[in-house]
Amino acid sequence: MSGAEFLVNETHGLYEPHGLKVLSDTSERVAQTNLEMCWAIDDWSKWRQAAHDIKAYTVAHLDQLLDQFARNLEQKGVTVLWAEDAAEANRLVLEIAKKNQVKTVVKAKSMLSEEIELNHTLSEHGITALETDLGEYIIQLAHQRPTHIVMPALHLKAAEIGQLFTDKLGEPFTAEHRELTMIARKRLRKEFLTADMGISGINFGVAETGSFCLIENEGNIGLSTTVPKVHVALMGIEKILPKLEHLPLFLNILPRMGTGQKLTSYTHVFNGPTQGREMYVILVDNGRTRMIEEPEFRTMLYCLRCGLCLNNCPVYRHVGAWAYGWVYPGPMGTVLTSNLVGLEKASSLPFASSLCGACSEICPAKIDLAHMIIRLRRKAIEQKTKARNLLDVFIWKGYAWAMRGKFRYKLLMTGMKIGMRFVPFLPWHPNKLGQWTRGRALPEIPKESSFRDWWKKREKK
Ligand code: SF4
Repeated sequence: MSGAEFLVNETHGLYEPHGLKVLSDTSERVAQTNLEMCWAIDDWSKWRQAAHDIKAYTVAHLDQLLDQFARNLEQKGVTVLWAEDAAEANRLVLEIAKKNQVKTVVKAKSMLSEEIELNHTLSEHGITALETDLGEYIIQLAHQRPTHIVMPALHLKAAEIGQLFTDKLGEPFTAEHRELTMIARKRLRKEFLTADMGISGINFGVAETGSFCLIENEGNIGLSTTVPKVHVALMGIEKILPKLEHLPLFLNILPRMGTGQKLTSYTHVFNGPTQGREMYVILVDNGRTRMIEEPEFRTMLYCLRCGLCLNNCPVYRHVGAWAYGWVYPGPMGTVLTSNLVGLEKASSLPFASSLCGACSEICPAKIDLAHMIIRLRRKAIEQKTKARNLLDVFIWKGYAWAMRGKFRYKLLMTGMKIGMRFVPFLPWHPNKLGQWTRGRALPEIPKESSFRDWWKKREKK
């Protein structure tokens, strides 16, 4: 099933209420660390501007830079392949696997592989793909989707992970972080040693040198990419940098904004395969060149996938990732999904925003996400059917009427208060109210559903 179909047809499940609380608290804490990291840099605004300018140059010269990158990689003995869409990327990976009689794959974390639904394709062809990033490993065991682009298991507590390891792996229960990590490490170590192929993403490709860079904290990327005799690296075509001298800026920004670290534990720079091994780089378009042609959304291709706009988004913090319906959540997900999958399949996403602008304020690549979301709203309304527009007109006219007087307003509030009590009992609740409710639980309706009621009660005390 392709990502686009997934968006339309699948139920993503609902978070446990405490899972959303963990997600909200953790992302807020990480956001705070990220902000302190920014404030500690005197030249932070210059860093942001430089990152923005380098990415602007990159996107404006993408065809030349990609050609240069591919030529330099090939000179180093890397096989470079081009994929126009998800289906072609999957087909290329399968061909490499077939050629090398691959039965087992170890995977380093890659959002692009999630985007193209690679695990699904591999398993359909009898190939076992094991996620080796700790968060992804947990999510794979739990048969869930990542909750964050950097911290995939953000919504799970240690005790829940301990229970998962007991249920799925037969390990004695523990909620100790260190012990949980050791269980995963012991399990994964032998998989690295026996896997036929390793698959990774690419954080940055350098056109000038034909090198590519991956950063991590756990060591699993190092093992996935160097132990199996075949390494396949998937790269979204926008992940290129023109020169090696640009890399240090991004190596300083990404860990600070992604995980709140000055540097990750490991920085790998690949310069071709070692003796006796094969290395492939698959350059994946999957809708990106279409975005270049859209001046209103082109800057989205400057995204570093740091996840900072998620951590700072009040909507993401309340609904989590699954509610966004595809692999990319939060403000960056709203813009990427609408452009890559098509706004007609994601028309509710631009409205899942408070338009507070925190994402635009914080983005290290200076991507103005908030204004892009407003433009998407306009496009979504233009695309709506006449019937949907009439319904909107009816709702907003009614709202405008109610807001014109105190009595009318009270009447509307009372009507809504009574109406809301029946919502949980509706036969089609919660999955058939449209796409937006599939992955979102309705919050409990409070007894005092208006500020006015609450205030009156408070006055009486
Ligand atoms: S849009 Fe900006 S803040 Fe959000 S993930 Fe991309 S680079 Fe990070």
